[in-house]
Amino acid sequence: MPINIVFVDRDGTIGGDGHFTPIAEFVPYAGSVEGIHALRAAGLQVFALTNQTRIAAGELDEAELRRSFLELGCSDAFICPHAENANCDCRKPKTGLVTQAHLKYHFSNQEAVIIGDSYQADMQCANRAGILGIHVATGRGAAGRADVSGTWVECADLAAAADWILRHNRREKEGD
Ligand SMILES: [Zn+2]
Repeated sequence: MPINIVFVDRDGTIGGDGHFTPIAEFVPYAGSVEGIHALRAAGLQVFALTNQTRIAAGELDEAELRRSFLELGCSDAFICPHAENANCDCRKPKTGLVTQAHLKYHFSNQEAVIIGDSYQADMQCANRAGILGIHVATGRGAAGRADVSGTWVECADLAAAADWILRHNRREKEGD
């Protein structure tokens, strides 16, 4: 099945260092924005998928963060604004943000992927949701790998992950 929905983590995946970087200081990795644009140009939706405890702490404006994702080329953003100890349903690796996306858009998990640098948050969320995970070696890199079981695709960075998805879709088209 071709991939139509791409969830993408922010810090350590689109850019930054794997920890929170303020909007004004956030620098995307080489090829990240181009990768997002290439996916959009191919007709895919790109949804930011991010935990941002600083919103609950009053240090980050959710609307401003949402705008920043649209400026990076994302079509929408699903944001957990809660504190780590709030026990919400949406903090990755919980799957509440994916549920929110399902309420807003019609798609099956088989046509979605989750791209992220965190095994514990992103790959675990993907596995729990029944969505293909694509781990990128930027940001946190290999940290936490031993703590998570399951399968996912490994790519060097977001640009390579976007290439992987577009190649996958071309193969699907040629296949049947
Ligand atoms: Zn939450």
